[in-house]
Amino acid sequence: MATLSRELCPHYAATPVTVTVQDSRCAECGLEAPTRVCMSCGHVGCCESTNGHATAHARESSHPIIRSLPLAPSSFIWCYGCNAYLK
Ligand SMILES: [Zn+2]
Ligand SMILES: [Zn+2]
Ligand SMILES: [Zn+2]
Repeated sequence: MATLSRELCPHYAATPVTVTVQDSRCAECGLEAPTRVCMSCGHVGCCESTNGHATAHARESSHPIIRSLPLAPSSFIWCYGCNAYLK
């Protein structure tokens, strides 16, 4: 998997990075984990290894960046635009 520095991702620069998560369950199917939050709008969806609602949301909304939940210093950030993890 590719890893990219945040400063080199144009999507990250254009995305507000302060999202608050009220409920970490998938908005579509209610799955509790693993889930991802959209960094553009705060939508929570499940990951590709389950029902893929985070990916579906990113495609439908053109919101490129997700972060893994629960939010923690170790949670990863993925950019669909760059197809890479951001660090
Ligand atoms: Zn789901
Ligand atoms: Zn979104
Ligand atoms: Zn990007």
